[in-house]
This record gives sequence, structure tokens and C-alpha cells, in this order.
Amino acid sequence: MKNQKDDIIWSVAVLVPPYKSLAYKEPFYFPTDIWKPGLRVLVPMGRSNTLRPGVLENYAYLTVPGRLKHIHWPLEKDNSITLEFLEMIAELSRRQAVTPSRILASVLPGSMRIVPEKLIFSESGEKISLPNCSCKSQRLDELARSWVKGDLIFPPSRKNIRKIISVAKEPPWSILPNAKLQWKVMDTLWQRGEMDLTSLKKILGPSVKQSIASLQDKGLISVCDKEKSVCIESLPQKQEKIKLSADQEKALSELKPRLQAKTFDVSLLHGITGSGKTMIYIYLARVALEGGRSVIFLAPEIAIAVQLYEQAVQILGEHKVFLHHGLKSPSEKESVFESIRSSEGPLLLVGTRSALFMPVKNIGLLVIDEEHDESFKQDQGFVYQAKEIAHYVAKRDKAMLVLGSATPDIKTYFAAKEDRISLISMNNRVGKSILPEVCFVDLKVDPPKFGPLAGVSESALREVLARGEQAVIMHNRRGYSPVVMCTDCSEVAKCSECQVSLTYHKSRQRLVCHYCGQSLPFSIICSNCQGSEFVPVGDGTEKVEEFFQSNLADTKVLRLDRDSSRNPGRTQEILCDFAQNKAQVLVGTQMLSKGHTFPNATLGIVIDGDLGLGLPDYRSSERIFQLLVQLSGRAGRGDKPGKVFIQTRNPGHYCWKYVAESNYVGFFEQELARRKLFAYPPFIRLGLIRISFPSEWNQKEDFVAIVKNEAISIQRNYGVKIMGPAPAPLSKLRNRDRYHLLIKASDWHQIRKAYSALLPCTDKHRIVRMSLDLDPMNML
Ligand SMILES: [Zn+2]
Ligand SMILES: [Zn+2]
Repeated sequence: MKNQKDDIIWSVAVLVPPYKSLAYKEPFYFPTDIWKPGLRVLVPMGRSNTLRPGVLENYAYLTVPGRLKHIHWPLEKDNSITLEFLEMIAELSRRQAVTPSRILASVLPGSMRIVPEKLIFSESGEKISLPNCSCKSQRLDELARSWVKGDLIFPPSRKNIRKIISVAKEPPWSILPNAKLQWKVMDTLWQRGEMDLTSLKKILGPSVKQSIASLQDKGLISVCDKEKSVCIESLPQKQEKIKLSADQEKALSELKPRLQAKTFDVSLLHGITGSGKTMIYIYLARVALEGGRSVIFLAPEIAIAVQLYEQAVQILGEHKVFLHHGLKSPSEKESVFESIRSSEGPLLLVGTRSALFMPVKNIGLLVIDEEHDESFKQDQGFVYQAKEIAHYVAKRDKAMLVLGSATPDIKTYFAAKEDRISLISMNNRVGKSILPEVCFVDLKVDPPKFGPLAGVSESALREVLARGEQAVIMHNRRGYSPVVMCTDCSEVAKCSECQVSLTYHKSRQRLVCHYCGQSLPFSIICSNCQGSEFVPVGDGTEKVEEFFQSNLADTKVLRLDRDSSRNPGRTQEILCDFAQNKAQVLVGTQMLSKGHTFPNATLGIVIDGDLGLGLPDYRSSERIFQLLVQLSGRAGRGDKPGKVFIQTRNPGHYCWKYVAESNYVGFFEQELARRKLFAYPPFIRLGLIRISFPSEWNQKEDFVAIVKNEAISIQRNYGVKIMGPAPAPLSKLRNRDRYHLLIKASDWHQIRKAYSALLPCTDKHRIVRMSLDLDPMNML
């Protein structure tokens, strides 16, 4: 007689390449009732039956022809992944056209994807190796019985004792030019932040150990033996006034009853910078928590998440409050995951976008602060838009979703105007502070004379410093100079793999490609004339900082950009120092515009307001508008009025008058008319297909021609509009040629269908990568 059990076939999402769902039988040596959807398991893969981690999805009674491998061992007794979580992953998989395996592999904490080597008898403490697939069946039976009884378990996860290496000293570094490997180590660490020894060896080879030792001797790097947990200092907080403003009272009175109705509801909280949106979030959170439901706050970046967390703890201290962000160590991430999973009552979780993948149950309120921010979209690896996931979760749990911003995404505001979501506006700042006065400085009339500053900006800066107040100066370009030019033939130094100009970083004496990260010594030979002299051209934040530091007597200047905040926690330190008045001038990139509060900063200067206007992206005006209004919002947040100077060579640009008035609605209407005219979102749906292949591939012309033909027939058959394939604006990256196809359609489904129809083109060419980005944020 056939054994019924043999016919239960599970679909297992494997958490390693090829990131697919594979079929496995239930093993004969375990009772059938231990297998449940969401359970993490080990399955054999490949000829050598190497054990890999996977997650059980669902099962069917099937008779499968041929031999099918069986699941080898469960990784846990109770499933740490709930059915709800699995269902969300499945939904995301349908929407984003990626496999559940790939999503799970990118959202589960790393320690949940580890294959343990040992089992341990709980009674005696005796350790044995995890049996492999060729183990005798009698032995497997025996061990499985002990497992089911709870006598045999996996040893508690070792605290990952790894050697973590990080940069210990800011550049310049005293390394001989010919110590190439040492340079590579420093560059790699600088690029990626801290790393463990194993990964560093993987990238740079085993001989890297020696270089590490000598760098350590010089004090340039530090090697820690254990997993370092980053301690993030919180910004000094002003005691929040308990009394709410009239605007805040009104907003709350509208939102509170809707939250208490426990139905799915989406609201846009459009409040100008400084109008006190945070207090609204916290008051609403209290209502949800007291009603027994959990809350998630998402912030666009770690510094803001930490600040929001501190405020929440201060006011809602009697409730459970968790913080999650990307700088947490793997074991901390797992411990937050585990605490949340096993938590019974309502809780508040504050974090960056990945907090959405924490297993919070029974959600009553989701808040996305600074909802216009691009960081809510992850566009590398598994591509997703946090707002979309939040929308799905809110609908599932009949929760309220609040999107807050002073400069909402055009699409969000459009949805509010069309009554698809509700709109709550707050048009006044809290307390005595008022919006700063914004002036545009025409650089053609008043050219830069004090370094990058025009006369009027210079005098404003000097006045503010004389009064003992602070200034923030934004320049959205990091490094020392964006271009270096050969003095003999004017050739611009370019990255050999991406064909974009290299940026000069003076403190490191390196030329760096900002796209692929490759770096070269500054003393290179001109590829055109063999000349050896290059001059830096143009200003980056590093040069601006240097200029002010050496030309403003008795003034301390700080810099905030990706280079100055490589080390985890450094951003927070810089912000703290500035907030505590330890420096008078803060120079930085767009990182300055992100929701920080500097009470004593009364002046904002934008060195080049035109940067980014000419980008090949339909959203470039929207981005500039948001950036400048947000930056202006940083000035005059305390009791003193603020002033903002924006320097431009383009004084007639239509954006400026709305920026000057901080007039979001006016900008929205103008921008919407433009989008309608040229058929861009929100009037249509947009999908971007990215294709890349090695630059030296000899069949590339033929391949592009095939894609082109296919695109024409898809356009004809599917009722979508396809533009391309055309070389991407960044046409070469890391030695791969890049092509784009832009799809315009009336719904997402059509775009997905068109993409699926195009995918078979790549079947015969494994070197081609093709991916779909729905509603792309980054068009390069
Ligand atoms: Zn030259
Ligand atoms: Zn490059």
C-alpha cells in the first residue's frame, strides 16, 4: 500500500540563489504535523546535497513522477514567520514581479538565514553534528524523535564573534603611494563602512591580512573582536510644549474619530515646516495604543528615526516602544524581530523603511513622516516602495495610514485633490516662529566673490555670525571638485568603467567615481596626451568647507555629507555638535534638508539652486522644489526669524516664485498642468525596464535590435506605450552597457504584462540582466 505521507509536497522558498520556490517531499522521519507554512527549514540542494535555508510556503497532495528530494530538518519548533507575513510577501511578489524567495532573503534578519552545524542535547549538553543527507534512516528516525520531544535542539545562536574592521582616522592617511593593497583596504572600508575580516578577504584576497596589520599599527583602522553595536547619540531636545496650537487641535479632531472607527483610512497631513506634525503623530499613537492596537512610525533616515523614537519614549513611555534601522547589528535586528513577534500587547515601532518587515500584529496606525522622501523607495536589490507596502498593511489590518509632509509627493496630493484620500492642512508654524524670508540671488548680476558666495550672501553670513547665530550652507555635490582637467589638453579624467567624470577628494588625495565607487590616485597620466598635470575644476562640499574654515576667522565649520558621515553614528554626532552650538557654520549636501531642527540657525544659503534642474527626469522640478522648501524650513525654527538666500543663474525659472512664497499648492497646480501635457504620472502609470550587459559582448547590437522589435509588437498588442530601448542617461556602469525602456500605461497590470512578454528575450543570454522598476524614482 502506498504511504499517503509521501505524497505531501511542499513548496519551499529557498533563501539562496537561484531564489526560487522548489518542491520537496515531507521526510519519513518526522511526523507530518510539525510542518506548517512559515516554518524555516533546511533543504538539500545541488548534487552534493548541501543544506540550505528555506521557508515553507504551502503544500499539496501530489504524485510527482521521478525522484524528489525531501526536506531535511526544521530550523525551529514554532514558525517565526506568520501566515500574514507570508501572505504579504506573496502579494509583494505578485506586484513587483520578483520571487518570494528573493524578497524573504532580503528582508529577514541575516541570522535567520544561517545554517547551523551542530545540534545539542538539552539535558546533557552533548553536542553532535547535524546529520547529513546520507545518514542512515534508523539514526535519522532516532534523532528526529528526540527533536520532536524537545530533547534535541539547536544550540542558542552564538554571539557572532567576528573581527569587525573600520576606519579609525579621517583622511588624509599616511600611506605610501605604492602600498596599493593598503590603499584598497582603506578605500573599500571608506566606501562600505565597517566590514568583517571574512568579507574583506573575499573582496581583496587572503594577503590582505598583512596590510590590515600594518594599517592597524599606524592607527588608521581599528579591529574589534566582537560585533560592534552602534551607539547613537540623540539630539538635545527642546521640552515640547504640551499645549497644542489651533492647527494641531483641528487636525487631531479630524483624525482621532477616524482612527477610532477602526476602518481602513488614508490621510495626507500637509503641514508647513515647523507646524508640529510630530506631536500629531504621537497623540494619535497614544489613541491607538490605548485602544489596544499597535503603531508603526517610518522616518526617511536614521537620525530622524532616532529623534522620533526619543520623543515617543518621552511621551508614551508607559508603552512598549521599539527602534529599528539599518545600522543595528544583525543580532540586535534579530532580537527586535523576536521581541516584536513574541510580544502580546500593542506596541510602537519607530524605524526606517525596512521596519515594515518587522512582524507587528494588529496594527491600528501607520505614519510615514516626510512621505515625499525618496528613501522610502528601495531601488537596489529587491525594489519596493514603502508607501505601497504601508498601504497594503493598513488595508489588511483596517488601520489608519497618515502620510505627513510639508512638500507632499505630487501623486499623493493629487490623490487628495481627487478625494481618494483625505487632506488635512496645517498652515502655521507652532509657537512664535515664522517661515523664513526667501531671496533669490542672480549670480549674473551679483557674481560669486567670497569663494562661492555672492556679495549679498556674504554680508548676510557675516551679520549672522556677528550676532552669534548659525548658518547652514547647502551645496548638493560632495567631494572637493566634481571634475579634474588635464592642464595640457583639457581632457577630463573619467572612470574607465562608467565613462563619467571622476570627482577629486582632496583629503584622501584620490579621484573617485561616484557611480561605481572605483578610486584612483590623484597623480594619474592623461589618457589623451600622456600629460601628468591635472587641475580640479568646480566646487564640492569639501572645498566649500575648506574655504569657509580658512577665510572666516574664529568660526568653526562642520560638514555633513556621505563622506563626512561614513562611520555609523557620525551623522548624529555632527548634528548634535551643531545643535549644541559647537560650530557656527554647517556645510552639506541635500542631507541637510531632511527634517532636522536647528533652533539657532537663522540663515540658509544654497550655493547653486540650479543643480539638478537639467536632469533627464520628469520629476526634477518637483525634487528641486521639495529640496529648497525643506532647506528653507531648517532656518528660523527657534524664536528668531530666519532668512534664506538661493543663488541661481536662472532667475526666471518658474519654480522660484513658489519656493520664495513656500507656496506648495501653487507649485502643485503648475506642475500638474505640465505633467498632463506630457503624459506623466499621476495621469499615467510609469514603468522602467533596465537592461544591462557586459560592454565587450559581441552580440549586443543584435540583442538590442531583437528587444526593439519585441517592444514594437508588445506596444501593438498590449495597448501600452513603450519608448526605447535607448542607452540610459548613465550609459555605462561598472563595465556594463545600460539600456532603458520606458513604459507608459493606464494601470500597473498592463506594465507587468508587457514586462513578462519582454522577459523571454533574455532566455538565451544569461549575461543580460533585465529588471522592472514600477514608478521609478531614479531615472539614471
Ligand atoms: Zn591631456
Ligand atoms: Zn565608475
